[in-house]
Amino acid sequence: MKLNNVILLSEHSAVDTNRLDIDIEDGKVRRVRPSEHVASEPPKVLLPALCHPHIHLDKPFVLTCNNNNNNNNNNPSENYPDYSDLLPETGSFDEALSNTSKAKERYSKEDLYLRGSQLLAESYKHGVTSLRAFVEADHVTGVLPLTTAIQLKSEFSHLLEIQICVFAQDPLFSGTYGEANRSVIASLLKDHARSVQALGTTPYVEESREKSLQNIDWAIETAVRYGLHLDFHLDYNLFQPSPSNQPLTFSVIELLQKQDWLGLADKSKTVVLGHCTQLTTLSNLDLEQLAGTIIQSRLPIYFVGLPTSDMFMMGRSTSATNTPQARLRGTLQVPSMIKDLGMSACISVNNVGNAFTPFGTGDPLQLASWGVGVYQAGTISDAMILYGCVSWLAKRAIGVEGEAGYRDIIEGQSLRGMLLISNKEHTRLPGGANGSELKIPARQRTSFKDIVWDPPDVELRSIVI
Ligand SMILES: [Zn+2]
Repeated sequence: MKLNNVILLSEHSAVDTNRLDIDIEDGKVRRVRPSEHVASEPPKVLLPALCHPHIHLDKPFVLTCNNNNNNNNNNPSENYPDYSDLLPETGSFDEALSNTSKAKERYSKEDLYLRGSQLLAESYKHGVTSLRAFVEADHVTGVLPLTTAIQLKSEFSHLLEIQICVFAQDPLFSGTYGEANRSVIASLLKDHARSVQALGTTPYVEESREKSLQNIDWAIETAVRYGLHLDFHLDYNLFQPSPSNQPLTFSVIELLQKQDWLGLADKSKTVVLGHCTQLTTLSNLDLEQLAGTIIQSRLPIYFVGLPTSDMFMMGRSTSATNTPQARLRGTLQVPSMIKDLGMSACISVNNVGNAFTPFGTGDPLQLASWGVGVYQAGTISDAMILYGCVSWLAKRAIGVEGEAGYRDIIEGQSLRGMLLISNKEHTRLPGGANGSELKIPARQRTSFKDIVWDPPDVELRSIVI
């Protein structure tokens, strides 16, 4: 394979004016030289591939395209449940939790496999090579989402590095089934230890703060015991903090220290905090103190902003004031957390086509592009940060960094897993009455800014293998 007129971009070479011709044989770089094709071929951009640090593998697309009333998969319908009665009516958080519980009762192996494989296929086509896949485990789902995820992980292993996160969406210490849910998770971790890389829980679904703290404590202890990464869905509200309602983020830090995470957990394991929308209500001083505490603690804490879900779930009118159109659209201000507070953070797609996020696709670049507006992040250096948020920063958060944050091009080296953005010379359209086609010069993407502000079509993206 010959890659001509290549621009190399990475976190250490955001602007590269050198154009390279790269010969690849058997997946290895055989020859690199200054390009002789600058004038004759459109430029290509080679850069670190994309990552979903947080995506739900068992519940995508339950509301879109796969139900019996719209089954175009030619499969026996009894294996593919109809979810059409679970379409959002209010779009509220409680409705999403309750409809997701109802959906879970209908999962079948075939249905989980179909929707999961659709998500993975779409992700790969968009340029993703690694991801953390959340699969729910509780007294309703039993082992089925996990065994299906293990099968998908194996079948896609030549294309995607998939981390499986066994995830408790439901309470572990409250309600009728808390104890049952806990024992399901404990037995899955024991029986499938080799296939699972992370443990995730949702402390905010517990019935009291005390139970939420128990949830966190148990998750830390269990992650250490099984050698897992830890991943919390946390502080998913926009309440003003009060002495009795401090963000649980602070408690996670305290409990990690109390349980000596640094001393006991494997050094390669990270702690990821997703959503954390309540942190947006903190003062600058409190945020700076939080950032300072995390940095000083040396704990491997990473925040994942999930803006598509957050904007849908959190951006509600909160009171009967005389400004009902005014809304707090709370989502972590990720670029500022990185630039201004020195925190480790990234962004992810989270959900698509379900009650928590009925819209969207599995495209991380579309998400990064959306971030320009959501975060008012419109500078050239912001474009690089936003790309990093769905690439090397995301990989670092889930501990699959490898060397993919930066690749120099040297002979003998593999470029496997890098993303190649091609450019077309022209966009061609059918001609009018006289028959000659319309030929319009295509926009050329050569920088992070071009790629994030104007994400190229899937056809222009390919993974180097
Ligand atoms: Zn999630």
